[in-house]
Amino acid sequence: VSTWAHVPMGPPDAILGVTEAFKKDTASHKINLGVGAYRDDKGKPYVLPSVLEAEKRITEKKMDKEYAPITGVASFTKLASQLAYGADSTDLKEGKIAATQSISGTGALRIAGAFYNKFYPNKTIYLPSPSWGNHTPIFKDSGLEVKSYRYYDKENISLDINGMIEDIKAAPEGSIILLHACAHNPTGVDPTEDQWRQISDAVKSRGHFVNFDAAYLGFASGNVDKDAFAIRHFIKEGHRIALCQSFAKNMGLYGERAGAFSVMCDSAEEAKKVDSQIKIIVRAMYSNPPIHGARLVSEVLGDEKLNQQWLGEVKGMADRIISMRTQLKNHLEELGSKHDWSHITSQIGMFCFTGLKPEQVERLMKERSVYLTKDGRISVAGISSDNVKYLAESIHHVTK
Ligand code: PLP
Repeated sequence: VSTWAHVPMGPPDAILGVTEAFKKDTASHKINLGVGAYRDDKGKPYVLPSVLEAEKRITEKKMDKEYAPITGVASFTKLASQLAYGADSTDLKEGKIAATQSISGTGALRIAGAFYNKFYPNKTIYLPSPSWGNHTPIFKDSGLEVKSYRYYDKENISLDINGMIEDIKAAPEGSIILLHACAHNPTGVDPTEDQWRQISDAVKSRGHFVNFDAAYLGFASGNVDKDAFAIRHFIKEGHRIALCQSFAKNMGLYGERAGAFSVMCDSAEEAKKVDSQIKIIVRAMYSNPPIHGARLVSEVLGDEKLNQQWLGEVKGMADRIISMRTQLKNHLEELGSKHDWSHITSQIGMFCFTGLKPEQVERLMKERSVYLTKDGRISVAGISSDNVKYLAESIHHVTK
């Protein structure tokens, strides 16, 4: 008998399943709203011109392909930290932040999990309900216990701020709380600045530790500083946070796997010790990270002109998404839909939680060739000038 005969077939990935069904559909008007990657108004993947320019410059430099240090390309981690914490952050200037390059956002979360499992006393992490589908497997694989706090109010298609505060306060003192820094995935529902203040107070009252997941800095509103509000507010309030960053969405570097994990410490000395332990974790997992994506980010963020250009391009992506939300809502209203679709425009980021029921999602796929996940989440990036009207008609058709 074969050595692996006992290995059971694993369940297929929910989002890949949507893509498979989409590919099989022969309708010319079909729409795929499952993908979590930005598309331009022609439905094509978008390589940012600032990134192309950076790539050209890097090629011209004829750099070698030697290994990066264990914690990655130093200029990259420095610039990534400045982007999130602010270039004027005193914690950064004083060397209190231990930062490492990571295999994009996923890798940052995985290092975080391993670090908490080794060094944080309370091994339970609380995730919003719902959260990005990969959070639970990542932290379980890291050996942590995964629990959740209330986040999304299905009834009102909004933030369940009271439930969230109650659950944060009810969690055992010193728990780890994961917060999406902005553009919550999958709901698109973010706390307001005032709600962030309440959340910070609740976290503080229980001495919890916060890990921010920032996969969409700049991509949500088109303004990095605005999208970094929660991170910087928590720091201002005296929290010592940890942060997982990704450049997949905001720089369009999906497959380049450029990310960072950073931990705020009480002193530069403490940061050095934390850094030494992160090195031990990374060394055993993958030795050192890939260099190309990190060089691209360094080149873009490190050059004043390219940086400005990139900010314009991020804003362009965010604005296209926001404009598609407005158009979808307007079309639904013009069609005479009796439902309140205001959440389409009040939500933020790449995703929109439509509030569509599983039966309606099923009908959208079967009758209209519109593909999305069962939870009613659509990737707004999959909407374009060409298909927004058809999409509105389709949604109206199944919600009449
Ligand atoms: N965190 C959240 C909330 C995400 O939505 C994603 C990607 O969809 C990630 C992390 C990690 O993505 P990546 O590993 O591609 O950077």
